[in-house]
Amino acid sequence: MQISFQQVEYRYSYKTPFEKLALEDINLSIPSGQFLGVIGHTGSGKSTLLQHLNALLKPTSGIVNVGEYTISPDKKLKSLKPIRQNVGIVFQFPEHQLFEETVLKDICYGPMNFGISEEEAKERAKELIVKVGLSEDILQKSPFDLSGGQMRRVAIAGVLAMNPDVIVLDEPTAGLDPRGQREIMDMFYDLHKEKGLTTILVTHSMEDAAHYADEIVIMQKGRLKRKGAPQEIFSNPEELFEMGLDVPDVVRFQFKLEERIGRKLGVTCLTIEE
Ligand code: ADP
Repeated sequence: MQISFQQVEYRYSYKTPFEKLALEDINLSIPSGQFLGVIGHTGSGKSTLLQHLNALLKPTSGIVNVGEYTISPDKKLKSLKPIRQNVGIVFQFPEHQLFEETVLKDICYGPMNFGISEEEAKERAKELIVKVGLSEDILQKSPFDLSGGQMRRVAIAGVLAMNPDVIVLDEPTAGLDPRGQREIMDMFYDLHKEKGLTTILVTHSMEDAAHYADEIVIMQKGRLKRKGAPQEIFSNPEELFEMGLDVPDVVRFQFKLEERIGRKLGVTCLTIEE
């Protein structure tokens, strides 16, 4: 599913005294099947950008195309609801949205709400619970009896149960231990590869951006500052530092980055003097 932003601007509380420009002059094309990393300082507009992808927000001016759908200022957001079947968003701390009596019901809720039969939804739940690294017997438990990490996986299974073509991840591993973080990110990467799922990852982890993304965009003060392959983005750490990004991480991970990016792209790059 091809995605594009054309001259997109977004203002919160538009035409009120509280108006706040959050996105400006965004032009971005995301080819079908790409793994895109989005980085940028807090408040740079990442979350606002993401919410345009499944029509939780619509531009104040400009156009967002998501496959066959066009999100423009004159569209009623309600009429764009079908987009949510195609674009799944895993928000930060998605487990806060669990609410059903059992894990099974929670995972089935989304698909059944979009007209999928109960039988088919249950089949998807059984398949996905294993995919997210849990066992089938957990389906009958209350989500609130699970550990934080298990709840996170159940919530992710619920998003995947919609069978989306595009998955948008807003800091999906926040608050997990390092092992859990790696497992979840590897799972998303496998899904992306297996199903050709277009994946858009907002992350504070430079390591994850370098390791998983085909391309990275840097947001700064509501603008798209730069877009490029990981080796281009990380070859100029001073620029990242100036943008308030966590350069110590880049420095700390320099050797891993060198090794991983080198392995992935067949190039040698990034030597940072400490
Ligand atoms: P990020 O995800 O990069 O932290 P956001 O997209 O959340 O950035 O925010 C972009 C800008 O929009 C910031 O200046 C933020 O304060 C502002 N903003 C975000 N949400 C709202 C809102 N609901 N109302 C008004 N301003 C907002």
